[in-house]
Amino acid sequence: MTIDIRKVTVLGTGVLGSQIAFHTAYSGFDVTAYDISEAALVGARERINSLVATYNNEVEGAADGKAERTAAGIALSADLAAAAKDADLVIEAAPEVLTIKQDTYKRLNDVAPEQTIFATNSSTLLPSDMKDFTGRPDRFLALHFSNQIWMHNVAEIMGTPDTDPDVFRAVADFAAAIGMVPIELHKEKAGYVLNSMLVPFLDAALALAAGGYAEPETIDMTWKIGTGFPFGPFEMLDVVGLNTPYNTHSHGGEDKQRIAAWLKENYIDKGKLGAASGEGFYRYPSGSA
Ligand code: NAD
Repeated sequence: MTIDIRKVTVLGTGVLGSQIAFHTAYSGFDVTAYDISEAALVGARERINSLVATYNNEVEGAADGKAERTAAGIALSADLAAAAKDADLVIEAAPEVLTIKQDTYKRLNDVAPEQTIFATNSSTLLPSDMKDFTGRPDRFLALHFSNQIWMHNVAEIMGTPDTDPDVFRAVADFAAAIGMVPIELHKEKAGYVLNSMLVPFLDAALALAAGGYAEPETIDMTWKIGTGFPFGPFEMLDVVGLNTPYNTHSHGGEDKQRIAAWLKENYIDKGKLGAASGEGFYRYPSGSA
């Protein structure tokens, strides 16, 4: 059975939610973006408006007014029932806290039409941990975008054993329709494809540097000369921002905590938070980051 997706509602308008809403609207879909309060929607409008400038600068064809029209066309709502009432697809980009997501799905199920598909953009949680709260495990799966969706256009699609294959197909087709390269996973995996490779790679580089085996610059140089890749792990970490590896390592075992302490002492406490702050493992003269 073919499932038609036209109307899309995005829950959560933070870093990723605002990008997903914008890019989906930019691709011609009807988009409503929901957040929990009118105050949160003020932030949403700011993020959406700032994406206009980003698209004008970075996306071909956006500067003829298309990006402005996209921003103006996104409906904002702090009323979950109104936001979900005629959605074909709801993409959830709420905070990465399992209980928040579970509670959101419970409330959403009470107000969304029976046929509406729900998709989570969660980076680290498994859809199986949320499916029982959706009231429709056959119409629920993960659809995971990467930050800076207009540029890093992969969308990872991952169902649970309960996901209807027609729903999986429809969401993969939707991802392609908004210009993503759909990456279909055959079964659940924390980290999907991309982060299952990227996180251990970056962690290995951090362990080498924090363990005193070699300097970050030496590790990057080794990787680049040895493999021909244009970027080393520490250049990549500067783009991600150092708070992310700091947070993940702070909650780990003893080895991980040693790495967190090294990051804190040598970088974070000195305000070296990555490219966005002007300095991380490398310096970024203003305007170059
Ligand atoms: P964020 O903190 O920037 O935004 C979260 C938004 O959700 C906020 O606007 C907040 O007001 C809103 N919110 C809070 N409670 C809510 C609720 N009950 N229902 C709906 N919205 C609610 O977070 P983010 O970085 O955009 O991450 C959101 C999701 O996207 C997470 O699951 C994260 O794992 C995933 N993700 C993030 C990135 C990234 O690089 N930031 C990349 C891929 C996926």
